Amino acid sequence: MSNDANDIGRSKRSKLETNLIHAGEPSPRILGAVTLPIFQTSIYETGNVAEYRDIRYIRLANTPNHVALQEKLAQVEGGQSALVAGSGMAAISSALLSVLKSGDHILVQDSLYGGTEAFLSEDCSEMGISFDHFDASNPDSWRAKLRPRTKLIYVESISNPLLRIPALREVTRFAKEHGILSFIDNTFATPINFRPLELGFDVVLHSATKYLNGHSDVCAGVMIGTQDFTRKAWGKLSHFGGALDPHAAYLLHRALKTLKVRVAAQNHNALTISRFLEQHAAVRVVHYPGLESHPQHVQARELFSGFGGMVAFELQGGEEAAERLLARLRCIIVAPSLGGVESSITRPAATSHYVIPKAERDAMGISGALLRFSVGLEHADDLISDLSQALA
Ligand SMILES: *Cc1c(COP(=O)(O)O)cnc(C)c1O
Repeated sequence: MSNDANDIGRSKRSKLETNLIHAGEPSPRILGAVTLPIFQTSIYETGNVAEYRDIRYIRLANTPNHVALQEKLAQVEGGQSALVAGSGMAAISSALLSVLKSGDHILVQDSLYGGTEAFLSEDCSEMGISFDHFDASNPDSWRAKLRPRTKLIYVESISNPLLRIPALREVTRFAKEHGILSFIDNTFATPINFRPLELGFDVVLHSATKYLNGHSDVCAGVMIGTQDFTRKAWGKLSHFGGALDPHAAYLLHRALKTLKVRVAAQNHNALTISRFLEQHAAVRVVHYPGLESHPQHVQARELFSGFGGMVAFELQGGEEAAERLLARLRCIIVAPSLGGVESSITRPAATSHYVIPKAERDAMGISGALLRFSVGLEHADDLISDLSQALA
């Protein structure tokens, strides 16, 4: 397929919605199949392959399901190359260990996903890799944290659970100025709302378990960056054995086709609900980047094309009122994960952030009364009715 007309949907010139559907699809289609079938086979005939990495094997993330999915994800995030993994943590750990060695140091944002934080403090420190937290909203304080062996700066596009946004442009400038790499976990924003590579980040990571898959039925991760980066990360991932299964790859591939419409609807619902909560007498504070009251609202408007599906809020009545609300909800599911088509809600102090000592949690702004709401695709009127009756 060499002429341009045939490349529509398969080239970087096409728009994101088109790439979600057509990028990475085999050309020509396999036996004409419009949907890429699941290649549920762990081994493949070798013939005369030249190199080890040309052997097709599930653990090597190079079966037809992996290849198509990776090409789609690379185009959607606007990167040279993507590598899928068996979970977000498999992607994050392989990505970090592919560029860090014993003796290296990294700078990480002060409120990170719990699994990433535990990987750094428990596993990386055992391997002689050290880290320091930095205040992501105060770029003037970063320089003092650099060490001779600082290799990397690491942030999340929207933090969990308070939904703060780091000074993203400044992170990429700081990395370039000091010759270090910049990594970003873009799970909460998704490439629909924010494409970090366009801003100058080196590597984008996702827990595809969340919005990318969006149906709460798959655990997967992805890394996107240069060809050189994914080749190194591929070495680590294949040694650690963190491959994605072809059936899970198929489900994620299928889900990506509707990512744009899902995220657009979740953006809309979350903004509607955050406005409802903000004016409700029983609600003390609402954290949502789309609200004028959010501390990084201006930055979010400038860099993001949507504010995401996550809303956090605190009730006037404290922890007891929060527990009462959870017990009364009928449609919204009380569950700790996020990014699914169904709305779910959790109290981070009792779930995702439970292991952090209470005093530390309070200092981070994560009170016992804080609730984190992953807004789904139900009608906003029904979600508001459910919240209203539970708040009454
Ligand atoms: C869930 C999550 C992860 C970890 O992903 P898994 O797929 O559970 O391994 C990493 N980062 C963020 C922001 C997450 O929400």
